[in-house]
Amino acid sequence: MYDLLIKNGRIVDGSGQPAYDADLAVLDGRIARIAPHIDEPAQTVIDAAGRLVTPGLIDSHSHSDSGVLLGPDGWNMLEQGITTQITGQCGTGPVPAYPNLFEGVRQKYGPEKVRELEEKCATFGSFMEAVSRMELGTNMAFYASQGNIRGAVMGFRMGDADPEETEQMKALMAEAMEAGFLGFTTGLVYAPSIYAGTRELVELAKVAHSYGGNYASHIRGEGLHVLDAMREAISIGEQSGIPVIISHLKIKGKQYEGASRDMLRLIDESNARGVTVWAEQYPYLASSAPLISQIPPQFAEGGNDKLVERMRDPALRKAMERAVFEDYETFESNIYGAGYGGILISSAYYTPQYEGRYVAEIAESEGKAPFDVICDMLIANNGVVQAIYFSQNESDMLRILAHPRVMVGCDASDVQGHPDRDKPAGGHPRGMSTMVRRLELIRDHDLMDVETAIHRMTGLPAEVAHLPNVGQLREGWNADICVLDYPHLKANSDYICPYRKNEGIDYVIVNGKIAVKDNTFTGVKNGRVIKRGSSRA
Ligand SMILES: [Zn+2]
Repeated sequence: MYDLLIKNGRIVDGSGQPAYDADLAVLDGRIARIAPHIDEPAQTVIDAAGRLVTPGLIDSHSHSDSGVLLGPDGWNMLEQGITTQITGQCGTGPVPAYPNLFEGVRQKYGPEKVRELEEKCATFGSFMEAVSRMELGTNMAFYASQGNIRGAVMGFRMGDADPEETEQMKALMAEAMEAGFLGFTTGLVYAPSIYAGTRELVELAKVAHSYGGNYASHIRGEGLHVLDAMREAISIGEQSGIPVIISHLKIKGKQYEGASRDMLRLIDESNARGVTVWAEQYPYLASSAPLISQIPPQFAEGGNDKLVERMRDPALRKAMERAVFEDYETFESNIYGAGYGGILISSAYYTPQYEGRYVAEIAESEGKAPFDVICDMLIANNGVVQAIYFSQNESDMLRILAHPRVMVGCDASDVQGHPDRDKPAGGHPRGMSTMVRRLELIRDHDLMDVETAIHRMTGLPAEVAHLPNVGQLREGWNADICVLDYPHLKANSDYICPYRKNEGIDYVIVNGKIAVKDNTFTGVKNGRVIKRGSSRA
């Protein structure tokens, strides 16, 4: 007797090979059998006639790492077909914890929770252990975040690491790899990650590479300097041997339309000369990032609380605004890139009246200068404000999406709790619908066949990140499975209502258990921690 039997579906197995009609049986969390007709009984039978049966989708870029310890169920990830999240991205994670890291948590959950998290996030090992004990909605795999490694060793200090600090950071890197992390990430626009120079990163990369890890980078610039920023990441791969993944590949700034051609050519040329380079992307034209990270980093020395303090000084505030608009050559702020009319406030805990509104519009209605709106809001929220920035072109987004080295990442987190589906603001639609929107775009623009599309969202990212036994439908492998109504897939979330339900997600199965039925989370949490595997099973 099988636990689960999916009958009459069309199997797209995640390898990129042609689809075929077959039944698929699940037992004890694994795929027990795939065959033209399976007639043995099963506890649950799903009729998948007219549906695609695919591996569970893999989110190559998640930020659920810190929030996972607060006990979310992953419903927003599951409801778009995701069964595995690869987290710790952009150099910003929970471990090792450094002072003030959990300010957002303190605001919502109080200081007791912060102490608990700091204890769990003291070392890479203690973090892995704590997460392994959680009930997880999706499977979770982790990159080590270089911003935390640097922050723990050097604090928010600009400038190069001395030899002793370098050794301490390398030791932490090794500790992460021993604990089963996948490699490391940087966020070279975020303090303190940004304070690291290329040479320092090469040293960490050598350590991660010696364990078979990867280097994933939110690069130093995604607008004017995007090619140089990509070249830096690639040179780290070249000097250390580590495979490179460019995070959320995009070109910001509507004036740079067409730049993706040169960016993708750079990736192709690097691979052609033996430097392994991948990328991942979310299929939206607006980005999202902490508002405080849009203030040039020289004002953040000493930490974000210091930066907020400096905003109270009118002369420093003026200097910040000047730096945003006049020093774009040095630091690409989204405040410049999107303009005040293109910045939408998505969350601001202490000033909810601003959520779902644009900075220019708030300034207008309050009779204030827009930069003062930003500073006053940051002060009121102790620096914790999330915003959305509109600054990209569709032609570049689609060109990047179609490229064979590009995977997919939501660049979002598990939503804590269950907000009303029509609740305005609070997030970016990518957190609810990245996977569905990507498949919709592929289908409607006829960008590639469905086998290729699914491969880049399943088998390929599993192989790149060395995740054992997931990413393909194969006998003996983990039963992470989607049943999709491909012609009717539809993303309904948008920038104003980011939590609206998707369509076309019939079932999502995590380690053999049904976590989503008819586009809706069932309440079943059956995810696990996945550690880096040395080779494919
Ligand atoms: Zn990022």
